[in-house]
Amino acid sequence: EGLVDMDRLRAEFPVLRREVNGRPLVYLDSAASAQKPQSVIDAELDCYQHYYANVHRGVHTLSQEATTAFEGARSEAQRFLNAPSEREIIFLRGVTEAINLVAHSFVAPRVGPGDEILVTHMEHHSNIVPWQLVCERTGAQLRVVPIDDNGDVDLETVRGMIHERTRLVSVVHVSNALGAVNPVAEIAAMARAQGVPVLLDGAQAAPHLPVDIQELGVDFYAFSGHKAYGPTGIGVLWGRYEHLAGMVPYQGGGDMIRHVSFSGTEYAAPPARFEAGTPNIAGAIGLGEALRYIDAIGRERIAAREEDLVNHAAEAIAAVPGVQLIGRPQRRAGAVSFVMEGTHPNDLAMLLDEQGIAIRAGHHCAQPVMERFGVPATARASFGVYNTHDEVESLVVGLEKIRRLFG
Ligand code: PMP
Repeated sequence: EGLVDMDRLRAEFPVLRREVNGRPLVYLDSAASAQKPQSVIDAELDCYQHYYANVHRGVHTLSQEATTAFEGARSEAQRFLNAPSEREIIFLRGVTEAINLVAHSFVAPRVGPGDEILVTHMEHHSNIVPWQLVCERTGAQLRVVPIDDNGDVDLETVRGMIHERTRLVSVVHVSNALGAVNPVAEIAAMARAQGVPVLLDGAQAAPHLPVDIQELGVDFYAFSGHKAYGPTGIGVLWGRYEHLAGMVPYQGGGDMIRHVSFSGTEYAAPPARFEAGTPNIAGAIGLGEALRYIDAIGRERIAAREEDLVNHAAEAIAAVPGVQLIGRPQRRAGAVSFVMEGTHPNDLAMLLDEQGIAIRAGHHCAQPVMERFGVPATARASFGVYNTHDEVESLVVGLEKIRRLFG
């Protein structure tokens, strides 16, 4: 397993000690949500046990300690993305809320009939539906970059689709349904050459790949804590300060104002402007710890080890009789989607669960991908830092067993 001591690493994840249906758990569903190391659980617990209070504006000790820890998590996120400033880090519930914020507050006020928003055919619903809502309200049009039979986008096609009416390019960094890693830096460079801002959905990239928003050259980047070994209900939107400073918030309430009166309200500066209400305090603190956890292992190292694992998994799964991969992208991270002839993906997932193996079956919130490949659903095995080649082997043995049953 390369330079990582896998026994030690796995021991940090308490859930991996449990059995499911009398078998050691083989957790291959990290793309839906990742398991948490003890340090993340402890960080959240420690907050609730020792210094929990509402953040900001408090003069008492607990409130100050909670605020320090909460804002410390913000610096952790800034460092994680290599963002120029903490003021550019907005805590939200996750990618879904992040994209909805950009849709309401950045894109909707800037588009009208004839304007275009560009996405790809492999987006998660959370990078489709918010734009459809904007288009309905404004008369703008959603345009879709096609994907080929491998599940890749063609850069020249992208180039041809960006023009003077394009108001935003919004692309998934790594596809949750196909595992495809998109050439996002190249796409961002093309958009920038035309003065078009770029948003990246980093839900499946943040846990697996180094992410440097300055190197990527984008305008907005979103990821969810729960997929990056952090708590649920907390995520990050990074945006260029000059964009954030010009955006009107779409949620109003406490903590996002400078001054309120019935004759008019002045908003706070970003990020507070976009964080109305009491935030997920302990969640943010847990997320900060998760980002520290990832960097303690090292993102280059994680990426290299996982690339080897996921490519091995794709090959081994494809070699099972009757199995067909959905998507054979040039570069893969995190996930492998597949179907087995004569067996519904749901049945596959159920039969694997009987052997203690957790995979996901369904449309993975990417119905256009299912339609593109002519399947109603796929089975998806997805991987995290804790997965091993032995677990890939267990999956393959499980699939072969099912194949013999049905084949
Ligand atoms: N984009 C991608 C690629 C995803 O995989 C997911 C989660 N499945 C999301 C967006 C949405 O993330 P969340 O549910 O945490 O808002």
